[in-house]
Amino acid sequence: MKHSILNSNILQQARQKIQKIQNISFLYLSQMSAKMSLKSLQKDTINAEKVQTKLLKDILQLQKDTEYGNKYNFVKINSVEKFQELHPLTSYEDYYNLIEDIANTGNYSRLLAEPILFFQETSGTTGKAKLIPRTQRLSLTFQKSFQSVNAIITNYYCQTKSISIENNRGLALASTQPLKTTPSGIPRGTGTSGGIRQSKLFQKVVDLNFSSPATVFFIPNYKTAYYCHLLFALLEPNLTYITANFASNVLESLQILEREWTQIVDDISAGKINSELEIDSVIREELESGLKPSPEKSQKLKAEFEKGFEGIINRIWTHLSYIQCVTTGSMELYKEKLKFYAGSIPIYSGGYGASEAWIGCNLEPHRDATAYVVNPNSAFFEFIPSAEIELAQPQTIRLTSLEINESYEVVVTTVAGLYRYRMGDIVKCVGYYNRSPILEFSHRQGSLLNISGEKVSETEILEAITQSIKIWGGDRKLVDYTTNINLSFYPLRYSIYLEVSPTFETLPDLIGFQNKFEEVLYDLNVLYLNSRQADSIAIPEIKLVKTDTFIKLKSKIISQGGSETQFKMPRLLKNLELVSFLDSNCLE
Ligand code: AMP
Repeated sequence: MKHSILNSNILQQARQKIQKIQNISFLYLSQMSAKMSLKSLQKDTINAEKVQTKLLKDILQLQKDTEYGNKYNFVKINSVEKFQELHPLTSYEDYYNLIEDIANTGNYSRLLAEPILFFQETSGTTGKAKLIPRTQRLSLTFQKSFQSVNAIITNYYCQTKSISIENNRGLALASTQPLKTTPSGIPRGTGTSGGIRQSKLFQKVVDLNFSSPATVFFIPNYKTAYYCHLLFALLEPNLTYITANFASNVLESLQILEREWTQIVDDISAGKINSELEIDSVIREELESGLKPSPEKSQKLKAEFEKGFEGIINRIWTHLSYIQCVTTGSMELYKEKLKFYAGSIPIYSGGYGASEAWIGCNLEPHRDATAYVVNPNSAFFEFIPSAEIELAQPQTIRLTSLEINESYEVVVTTVAGLYRYRMGDIVKCVGYYNRSPILEFSHRQGSLLNISGEKVSETEILEAITQSIKIWGGDRKLVDYTTNINLSFYPLRYSIYLEVSPTFETLPDLIGFQNKFEEVLYDLNVLYLNSRQADSIAIPEIKLVKTDTFIKLKSKIISQGGSETQFKMPRLLKNLELVSFLDSNCLE
């Protein structure tokens, strides 16, 4: 009897050892393939033009027998010039009927040579949500880019703190919803939901890399999921990083922590999850089985939270080396707020991508302004010079011919059925990495304020707001903003909706703000100045909204079919129902 217990103990220990070796090997292999992806990306930038020409050829060859390939006679296209001559620039509308038909019938070969893993629903933040076919090949381009970003992180952020590879765990902020299906049974959902719920390796990746159990990622309500992610992350002694798609995701989770820390420390003390949270009973049971009462840890955390939230991250996670999330474009505003919590922890914006295609990786994290090197092997790229963006079929420029300091709209031909597709993203070329351009994200074409040709961008609006807010005193911070073109006045005017913190009891000096706002905008955009002088635009109205209005606006947009993890606050609101929601929440 004694003998058999001894034997089974030895067996168990041996199994654990083998498991440990397997895990370490898996992590080393992941790290190696990350390094290889980065190397191959760097190599591709040296031969960017060749890589691009070959990629286009491969795409046309791959799709030549599809109905779409036959229509455009892909077989006969033997050069980039011929392709540009025979195939027009497109937008989602050009694929709408075809994609609807594929969704209904399942007949993917009308557009694609390879099956569709799932339809990725885009965020729909600046327009109607779209369905973008995701194939294995497209997924691979994303995976390679993520790996390159991971290798950069290892090179830049993981050298200083000595955490062994198997103890390197992070807080990954994501929540997923069950995938729906199209009438023909093809799964559809957000990129994050599809990517996570369809991954065979997800459980292993989570077990080895993240502080939360995999189940947390399947809690569909993102606020509840974030709460649980935080709970498990606070119990992780060696948390080394935080990762999320966007700065807004990280910020929102930290705001949940700031609001709900008393409940969270109670949960940690009791080894339970707040009973008020709506969590499926099976999931709750599974999660609670991984918790145990930790009153000491709870006390320690409580003491830190009581000191306030400035620089809190460093104090509660002493091994944390970096935060990874997109901080550019419409996320710029949140980066500043994130710094309040992050203190000296670096925030790395690693990638620029979309459901349609991956575009670039931030290979030089220490640049003053974040910028992304285009990945020449993730899509075939063309660029429309900013002066020609209004045209339906302008001439395009190839990847290696962009001019430094010029702005362009990005056009992609992807491995999954989009051809010369206008992304609507405006970027500025700020240099070259070998032969591949380095791009700063500027704005979305759909967010330009344009009444009489002035084309004021969200960057300009944010700058004008940031300067003007100072007239209300240094401690007043911008929480969020959006704009709308007010059609009920003549001449037309901008409405600028602002939420500030701390809020005002009575309305402050809006005229002073208005004047400063215009003064800054005149400097930034001479066309705006001209339009104002010609009286073709009236003075903008400044509208202050009540506390939490933008959180409610976000919930409203998400409830109409958007996704939290992909959500970007629209900077130009066109939906009248949402505008009237803001109007009904203005301070009076
Ligand atoms: P979605 O397809 O819903 O994921 O949205 C993709 C869009 O998000 C892109 O077309 C960009 O407008 C925006 N985006 C993605 N990455 C970045 C980034 N690094 N900086 C700024 N905007 C980004």
